Amino acid sequence: MDSNASLRSIPSVDQLLKSASATAAIERYGRQALTEALRATVADMRNEVRKGHNVPGQEVIMVAALARLDAGGRSTLRPLFNLTGTVLHTNLGRALLAQAAIDAATEAMHEAVALEFDLESGKRGERDDHLRALVCELTGGEDATVVNNNAAAVLLVLNSLGAGREAIVSRGELIEIGGAFRMPDIMARAGVNLVEVGTTNRTHTKDYINAVGPNTGLMMKVHTSNYRIEGFTKEVGARELASIAREKGVPLVNDLGSGTLMDLGRFGLAHEPTVREAVSDGADVVTFSGDKLLGGPQAGFIVGRKTLIDVINKNAMKRALRVDKIRLAALEATLQLYRDPDRLCERLPTLRLLTRSRDEIDAQAQRLAPVFVRALNGAFNVSVVACESQIGSGALPLSTIPSAGLALTPVDGGGGKLAGLAAALRQLPMPVIGRIERGSLLLDMRCLDDEAGFAANLAGIDPSFKEGTDDEPS
Ligand SMILES: *Cc1c(COP(=O)(O)O)cnc(C)c1O
Repeated sequence: MDSNASLRSIPSVDQLLKSASATAAIERYGRQALTEALRATVADMRNEVRKGHNVPGQEVIMVAALARLDAGGRSTLRPLFNLTGTVLHTNLGRALLAQAAIDAATEAMHEAVALEFDLESGKRGERDDHLRALVCELTGGEDATVVNNNAAAVLLVLNSLGAGREAIVSRGELIEIGGAFRMPDIMARAGVNLVEVGTTNRTHTKDYINAVGPNTGLMMKVHTSNYRIEGFTKEVGARELASIAREKGVPLVNDLGSGTLMDLGRFGLAHEPTVREAVSDGADVVTFSGDKLLGGPQAGFIVGRKTLIDVINKNAMKRALRVDKIRLAALEATLQLYRDPDRLCERLPTLRLLTRSRDEIDAQAQRLAPVFVRALNGAFNVSVVACESQIGSGALPLSTIPSAGLALTPVDGGGGKLAGLAAALRQLPMPVIGRIERGSLLLDMRCLDDEAGFAANLAGIDPSFKEGTDDEPS
């Protein structure tokens, strides 16, 4: 056959749509999607035939078109197994929600709700009414509001209290959190003039006092959760700073970042400053995240003096940064759990994962080791190892907790094999994400809940993982 005759013998899209397998595919994906997939597939096949390949039959084209539809229909926001050892991993979506929060959010999605409607008076209500009392009860604050995330909270507070004026911050606290949250940039965007005081390692009371002038809008304290300054250091504590701010008549804003509502020491974890402490230390406004240690959905809380919260609520930016009914429902249900601290650990996934004991995790790793030995077919050594989990990634990388996991090490060395294995695990129906550490792929089992599902998923690993070459970067 000459090339033109070959091209003409490729089944047409119309013919393909009339085939028996097309009927089932239309039922599943819809006629329009199937037609487009067939068109694209036939176009590809024509190019192949022009290059001298054989003319494909109907079934071959149909299989290719269905594969195209499957790939296009698969969510890129896929659930995965987070075995990185970082419990609140920003790139993996941070906190897992409590069942109560999921139920509340689901209900709010299904139904109309009294979002800004006062059921008692029948008049307009406020979005913040749903959380205000609960947040104040749990933090000791006078008033509270909530916005999209803590970055938004900081931006809104700075703009509301300091636009066109100065904000005094220690040079030791000018943080950058991952994802382009940099305090000097946020200040600039908020229209606030940053006044840096002290030095990187030492800031004194007098530095703050000397910086206050007629144009001071606020003083700010930032919790530096993702780095530590050690050695010859000095910082002014929140309580002392509050007394300076009060004396000078300017508000003190404390950005806690993670801002836990419970003393984590109670659960055997390192102490993180609680929101209640920040409020009682005298901050006028405290900001913190909803999806870090608090264990809820993404949100930014602003807690503090009523007069200041009023100013913040009147800022036109507030409307652009507000949260919807779904998140409000999930936040309310999450906060309710804090009223029963005795059962918080079992109900709040973040806390449950953070407090899993090393022994329990180790036992889980021991149970899963043989599953990996089978799946990896002798190409990797599988050993149960002690490791350290992190509370957070961008936010709290310094706080580590003893954990256990599996170290998968190529039998004949080679970083390419490791990269190949990591890629094969990412390609599983439910991707598995670990971390490469000292020549092994380390899978920290702290965040693994569904052990049986994990084992079944692993059985589907693509055996080509062994073929990684040593030149590949790991
Ligand atoms: C995490 C963090 C933020 C940003 O909070 P998001 O909820 O990620 O927007 C701001 N400040 C501090 C100190 C933080 O730790």
